[in-house]
Amino acid sequence: MEHQHPETILVTGANRGIGKAIATRLARDGFDLVLHCRRPGDDIEAVRAGIEAEGRRARVIHFDVTARETVQAVLEADITEHGCYYGVICNAGITADRPFPALAGEEWDSVLRTNLDGFYNVLHPLVMPMIQRRRPGRIVALSSMSGLTGNRGQVNYSAAKAGIIGASKALAVELAKRRITVNCVAPGWIETEMTEALPKEEVRKLIPMQRTGSAEEVAGTVSFLCSRDAGYITRQVIAVNGGMI
Ligand code: NDP
Repeated sequence: MEHQHPETILVTGANRGIGKAIATRLARDGFDLVLHCRRPGDDIEAVRAGIEAEGRRARVIHFDVTARETVQAVLEADITEHGCYYGVICNAGITADRPFPALAGEEWDSVLRTNLDGFYNVLHPLVMPMIQRRRPGRIVALSSMSGLTGNRGQVNYSAAKAGIIGASKALAVELAKRRITVNCVAPGWIETEMTEALPKEEVRKLIPMQRTGSAEEVAGTVSFLCSRDAGYITRQVIAVNGGMI
């Protein structure tokens, strides 16, 4: 066996939505977790309690993914104390949707800073320590269908999510011979707070499977990419979208 469970995986934005589902699923599949969220709260403590009830270990760390120096300091302190992670799931993200002519500079900046700079800020302090483990590793970044096709009212978000695909593919090449895989998962319409305001009946008509997806369905794909069975899959984008593209 190359490695034995429990390995530890960091999930960003683990307090709700897809990140919470990913953390919960990874625990069920035998991993220990580092649960990241922006700030302390009952939500992340409930996720932690659920994971511990599965018999797995979980600890919580906090930072705003856009605050580069804080991210670096928190991650370095955590891996100095506990050792570096087997896996990292870059999940934290935001939207600020508006037709391009009305898109404010701050809306462009905040979406790029959170989704794309967040990828750099979280992974940069971790990649060299992951290499130095000299063991297989896993990085999964949440992109989006918008990053593959572009989406009306999401010029900023589509740019950030396409950027994550390019960055992941390049990092995958850099890390391939180290046995660290890097892949993207690109969800379609998933029911979370992020998509709460969308007209559900209209959206369903656009989806060949005629339904929105669940956070758990995205989590299952992420967990597969973290498994030993996925050790030869790298530099890929896996769409989870009910057949939309
Ligand atoms: P939610 O809005 O439900 O959750 C977003 C998560 O990201 C929250 O945990 C939030 O923390 C965290 N987050 C946002 N900004 C920051 C920040 N600056 N610093 C730290 N944490 C932050 O989104 P989803 O669960 O729906 O989405 C998860 C990922 O999947 C995102 O990357 C999203 O773009 C992607 N995705 C989602 C789709 C969908 O249909 N839902 C479709 C395609 C992709 P807090 O609670 O503090 O706000």
